[in-house]
Amino acid sequence: MGVKKALTIAGSDCGGGAGIQADIKTFQELEVYGMSAITAITAQNTLGVQGVYPMSLEAIEEQLNSIGADLTPEALKTGMLFNSEIITLVARKINEFGWGRVVVDPVMIAKGGATLLQQEAVEALRTHLLPLAYVVTPNVPEAEVLAEMKIESLDDYKEAAERIRALGPTYVVMKGGHATYQGDTIIDYVYDGSEFVAFESKRVESIQTHGSGCTFAAALTAELAKGNSVNVAMRRVKQFIQSAIENELNIGSGHGPTNHFA
Ligand code: PLP
Repeated sequence: MGVKKALTIAGSDCGGGAGIQADIKTFQELEVYGMSAITAITAQNTLGVQGVYPMSLEAIEEQLNSIGADLTPEALKTGMLFNSEIITLVARKINEFGWGRVVVDPVMIAKGGATLLQQEAVEALRTHLLPLAYVVTPNVPEAEVLAEMKIESLDDYKEAAERIRALGPTYVVMKGGHATYQGDTIIDYVYDGSEFVAFESKRVESIQTHGSGCTFAAALTAELAKGNSVNVAMRRVKQFIQSAIENELNIGSGHGPTNHFA
């Protein structure tokens, strides 16, 4: 059995905690071959995002063409896509190459408040990219935007999952880390249109969580690239994230990066 290949289509974080860098490190730790197509370059560190430089559509398309012509990924994830033109292009290329096992991390706003997806692009995400998603991985604020509703209870949460799944993804992984009604246990739910499967973990109080969303989606992508089902993949993802947040790196003077060592 040869090594499996995973692709991330996302933004670069020069500080190494989130984005492409988090994804590639996570792919490596989970023993899949990592590839990247960079959509934007950010200047950032543990203190925040100092600059955002989207790549030209031509540069993004050419990266995807190079990969598509030679190195078909067994699974891929999308992260920071920044604007509607980039989203439309990425959706077109995924279709053109017939890539499956697409994990869409609907990245919108960095923990420090920087915009990683322009407001005008939300509709493109809903209409062009979600129909191609095998899995979408919203946190609560992202789920509220995609489902166009407030989430204040478990019933709301399930209603939001229903609405998001109606946009096209096969699975919705609703991440519970931001849920205010859950207390000390974090419960992520996997919804496939018929049942909600719960994945529980203990809440770890930490500010060293920069890039945790990227790392979560990258771990899921790696496990899907290996051919695992979403529910089997999620068990490994939860362990990886739990240990990443428990084993703080304490790098930098701000909001430290998620630990990517398995
Ligand atoms: N920078 C880039 C390039 C990202 O893709 C992401 C998350 O998706 C972030 C920053 C967000 O980092 P944080 O976990 O601090 O919100």
